[in-house]
Amino acid sequence: MNPTIKSKLPGLGTTIFTLMSALAAEYKAINLGQGFPDFMMSEELIALVNAAMKTGHNQYVHMHGLALLRERIAEKVESLYTTSINPDSEITITPGGTYAIYTSLTTVLQPGDEVIVFEPGYDSYIPNIEINGAVPVIIPLVYPGYTIDWALVKQKISAKTKMIMLNTPHNPTGSILGKADIEQLRVIVKDTGIFILSDEVYEHLVFDNQQHESMLRYPDLLERSFVCFSFGKTYHCTGWKIGYCIAPAAMMKEFRKVHQFNCFSCNSPVQFALADYLQQKEHYLQLGQQVQQKRDYFQQLMLQTKFKAFPSHGSYFQLYSYDSITEESEKDFATRLTKEYGVATIPLSAFYTDGTDNKILRFCFVKKESTLETAVNRLIKL
Ligand code: GLN
Repeated sequence: MNPTIKSKLPGLGTTIFTLMSALAAEYKAINLGQGFPDFMMSEELIALVNAAMKTGHNQYVHMHGLALLRERIAEKVESLYTTSINPDSEITITPGGTYAIYTSLTTVLQPGDEVIVFEPGYDSYIPNIEINGAVPVIIPLVYPGYTIDWALVKQKISAKTKMIMLNTPHNPTGSILGKADIEQLRVIVKDTGIFILSDEVYEHLVFDNQQHESMLRYPDLLERSFVCFSFGKTYHCTGWKIGYCIAPAAMMKEFRKVHQFNCFSCNSPVQFALADYLQQKEHYLQLGQQVQQKRDYFQQLMLQTKFKAFPSHGSYFQLYSYDSITEESEKDFATRLTKEYGVATIPLSAFYTDGTDNKILRFCFVKKESTLETAVNRLIKL
């Protein structure tokens, strides 16, 4: 008899990002679906990786991550958020942001624990909660601004609530947390044993001179937070799969127990290169403005189409409603757009467990201007 697997995630299919990117490739469509840039990353950073390899930095670095890289991250955190982080005990380098999120959840969750999670939300969160035997308590973001209803959060907190998951700037909506959100959060978690997981992979992609409300700014929040970051999003190299997690030492100690027998340590030459490159602050300080220009350019072009924009305050993404074009479901329309018009997007329903369908698609605008122009020229035909 062949062994059979009793699935730990019985209802789960393949992530929408893989599906839409495969469909885009099959139909040679312009891919405004999965979030990645189509322009060249820094040649200098590539050269630094190459130099690190040639210098002989090709063996394991410390399982927590290269010490120099962790020191440089701590310096960056100090200068951006005036928070002092211990690079030895409070930072771990991870193979990407999604891994850091999974590891944080696995570190904390016991079967039956409840996790407050918002929808629409990045599609890894809920499976990551469920594979740990924990229970997602799903709260809808308030349409159309996709803000958090804090009164509802308060109502949903129970004796079993172990964690609240936050994401700012937000994938897929481009909303961001403001000061008022932080104040509400502080009141809610004060004197509780609730952890926070904060997905801040789009940390530098905040537009219109607004401030990124990192958990790292607030000691009373940071003392209970795992904060997850991505170098891929910051340096236009999503395929490098390298990021990091910051958490207080006692929490990080447990995180590292999970990490050490899963990934153990990340790609070493990339870490040497990043440690060097991080010293040039202008690269991450200018990023918000650079990407904002892309948002504005795309938004301007899209005025020629029947799609209606939702505001995007940060991230790689902007939502567009198509309710004046067709009544098709988001999945059907996104599929037809890819096959017949040659533009791939992500249906917003993929970010809801109940398939909520408001006739909205997510577009990634972090692309060359020529790519955005070609895509919009196709969308005009609708
Ligand atoms: N974060 C990216 C997005 O939302 C995708 C990451 C992935 O495909 N795992 O498009």
